[in-house]
Amino acid sequence: MKFGVIGYKGRMGKLILEVFQQKGHQAVLLVEKDEEKFYEKPEVIIDFSAPEAIENTINLGKKFNSKLVIGTTGLNKQKIDLLKEASQNIAVIQSYNFSIGINIILEILEKYSKLFSAWDCEIIETHHSMKKDKPSGTALLLKKSLNREVLIHSLRIGNIPGDHTILFSNDGELINISHRAISRNVFAIGALKAAEWIITKKSGLFTFRDIIKEELL
Ligand code: NAD
Repeated sequence: MKFGVIGYKGRMGKLILEVFQQKGHQAVLLVEKDEEKFYEKPEVIIDFSAPEAIENTINLGKKFNSKLVIGTTGLNKQKIDLLKEASQNIAVIQSYNFSIGINIILEILEKYSKLFSAWDCEIIETHHSMKKDKPSGTALLLKKSLNREVLIHSLRIGNIPGDHTILFSNDGELINISHRAISRNVFAIGALKAAEWIITKKSGLFTFRDIIKEELL
């Protein structure tokens, strides 16, 4: 697979290069804020950078007819709408979390959180101190799957790749559902899975959950 990376000097960008190259895929487009290294037309472009990059990523996708894997968080409605529009012509997979575990938890919450409708519920998310957006995209996904108003508490500390806990409590009980990304590698491995999956799709907007559902359900 010939691939491009947007934000290739970032924490995730570097890992994505490493993980994809280890699998024998070839980096042919490398983009940073004020830099573009072009070698060949990429079949797929991976963007884990910043919301400001999205327009350029979409333009590159259209120009080269490349599939897009979008991991950048903090996208507003206008940017999500741009991805939707682009997905009419090119295949796009967008997710705020490319780990298997979080996507399984999303499935569970969507199906069973109604059992906790009489319980209090709050979310705690903890990330490294360099993370730009707050709350995390994953916490927003979790909130959506709960289908109710919940408070999200965000901690920014140390070098934590991503911890999320959903707490349910009634008068005498407390249930925690927790996920910890032990290493950022899980997201790069997820992006690789997504890229290998989307390469056969012509157009459409997909999420990482679509892949997990297809595999596990
Ligand atoms: P980072 O700050 O280490 O890296 C971001 C890189 O993007 C930097 O090298 C920066 O220079 C570059 N960049 C910024 N603006 C750009 C632009 N306009 N064009 C091209 N490059 C640009 O951040 P990170 O920890 O690697 O995370 C990057 C993004 O990925 C964040 O939005 C983060 O929340 C997200 N993320 C998503 C997942 C997921 O599973 N979806 C997992 C981890 C991180």
